[in-house]
Amino acid sequence: MTTETIENFSELNLSENILKALTEMGFEKPSPIQAQGIPAVMQGADVIGQAQTGTGKTAAFGIPVLERIDLSSNAVQALVLCPTRELAVQVSEEIGRLAKYQKGIRIEAIYGGDSIDRQIRSLKRGVHIVVGTPGRVMDHMERKTLKFDEVRMMVLDEADEMLDMGFREDIESILADMPEDRQTILFSATMSKPIMSITKRFLNDPILIKVVRNELTNVNIEQVFFEVKPQAKVEVMTRLIDMHHLKSLLVFCNTKRKVDEIVEDLQLRGYASEGIHGDLRQQQRSNVMSKFKAGVTTILVATDVAARGIDVSGLDGVINFDIPLDEEYYVHRIGRTGRAGMSGKAFSLVARDEKFRLKTIENYTKVKIEKGVIPSYEDIVGVRKARFVESISAAIKNGDDLDLYNDVLEMLHHSGYSTEQIVGAMAKQIMGVQKNEYADSNLAWEERRGERDGRREGSGDRFERRSSGGSRFERGGREGDRRGSDRFAPAGRGESRRSEGGRDESRKSAVPEAGMTRLFLSLGRKDHILPKDIVGAIAGEANIPGKTIGAIDIYDKFTFVDVPERDARAVLRAMDGNTIKGKPVQIDIAK
Ligand code: ADP
Ligand code: MG
Repeated sequence: MTTETIENFSELNLSENILKALTEMGFEKPSPIQAQGIPAVMQGADVIGQAQTGTGKTAAFGIPVLERIDLSSNAVQALVLCPTRELAVQVSEEIGRLAKYQKGIRIEAIYGGDSIDRQIRSLKRGVHIVVGTPGRVMDHMERKTLKFDEVRMMVLDEADEMLDMGFREDIESILADMPEDRQTILFSATMSKPIMSITKRFLNDPILIKVVRNELTNVNIEQVFFEVKPQAKVEVMTRLIDMHHLKSLLVFCNTKRKVDEIVEDLQLRGYASEGIHGDLRQQQRSNVMSKFKAGVTTILVATDVAARGIDVSGLDGVINFDIPLDEEYYVHRIGRTGRAGMSGKAFSLVARDEKFRLKTIENYTKVKIEKGVIPSYEDIVGVRKARFVESISAAIKNGDDLDLYNDVLEMLHHSGYSTEQIVGAMAKQIMGVQKNEYADSNLAWEERRGERDGRREGSGDRFERRSSGGSRFERGGREGDRRGSDRFAPAGRGESRRSEGGRDESRKSAVPEAGMTRLFLSLGRKDHILPKDIVGAIAGEANIPGKTIGAIDIYDKFTFVDVPERDARAVLRAMDGNTIKGKPVQIDIAK
């Protein structure tokens, strides 16, 4: 059976129930990873599937998992591990939709941040498919509230992200605890050495399915870059949004801190924008996402990792506020637009020191990214004016209750204003044109004669660099490796360059003592926490002696704490999402 010939789900030997659900979900034909993956998984083999985000990997394993559940047993028969709570929820919901006509199947999402007692009660009633995050699954295994003796299928979804997030050990101990004769399936957007080593250890003679990225050459995506001074990026971005009338837009940047900065800046300028990144609580994220899907928010600003977990379609465009550090991320990002035959725009804002990365991306994708011209202030006022006239005409045509406002003009005339003045003032206000704070000539950087790509600029990029401090938490290993030395630089604008113990001191302590694990906490000096607060919280919550806690480096916005290696996991589990001095804290292994 070759995949080219599979045009229909009915060719995949699926049960009527599943086919009915698929029709209802509007799935017309299997995606390539489904066409190849479903038969391989159904035949019982171990499978490695590689395909990028948004290609339908969930159903590729979800359908065969559903086909193999034995409803006469109440035991857990399939375990799916996902990197984040969002993904766990999303995957369990998608499997739920696929299972709509399989009465009696129970699927449960198990993740941190949700009441463990509620989960335990639910698990007691009997669950066939568990979709969970590694930390919480481990937790249940230790409490013996989850038993895996009957598990036949084990799925590692978004395996690359799980490893990037530091779940390697958890995954390995979970895998080691599964019945020997289970089937193991691993899905990932990228393949790295650590993933290959996991597959070597835990998969049996796996079938490798790799779907080539056709997004790389998706002709529906218009790829353009703009050479922009770092401090003018938001201005240029808003001009592009206005110029192209982008109403549903995803903006990517490399760090969480940048997400917050951009959102704040956009909101101040009157754009309906919200950010999504790993620091948001589940409730906040769902909130942000439903507003975006409803069109209340038009601009969603995200980091690469956070964007993995969201399912949005019909975007007008994607803006790369920063150029990603990884070529594959660029492909993932722009693949979010121009779907299903619609056209999409992918704009990249390139600072001088990012130019070489753009070149690397071009080499990788084999597509030339065109250089664009930044719209002038006049251009922007022009398009806004045209749109204003259009919307006023529409309001007049559609308005049957306009006589309610008849006297407004009269009232203003009474105050001594001319009709021209009144209309002008209203236009300006409604159009929301900002005062021109940047000269057009001051937005782009000039290519110096003989400048080589990849050259780093000295002072002009401070704005860029200062964002890298908190980034490790979001991006994990890859970025950490490349930019590790920035990590301990004092973070934040106008902040003293003197960190606790000084810059050199903190560099020296970048490696924790033997036997210790360095943890990253999302609270810092700005939260008024003191070493004793941290010791108190960790010792109390994780139940370890305070004196075993090692070095504590408090920075403005985050803190590094060394704890004994053997206690690191207990501390993570006890503290992540917990509070210190009433402030919610995110905690993770520092990389
Ligand atoms: P991935 O895990 O590869 O990132 P998902 O499984 O989350 O992708 O699927 C992305 C989106 O595409 C989801 O909204 C899903 O419902 C939809 N989808 C998946 N398979 C199909 C299909 N065969 N036809 C139409 N839509 C699909
Ligand atoms: Mg997925």
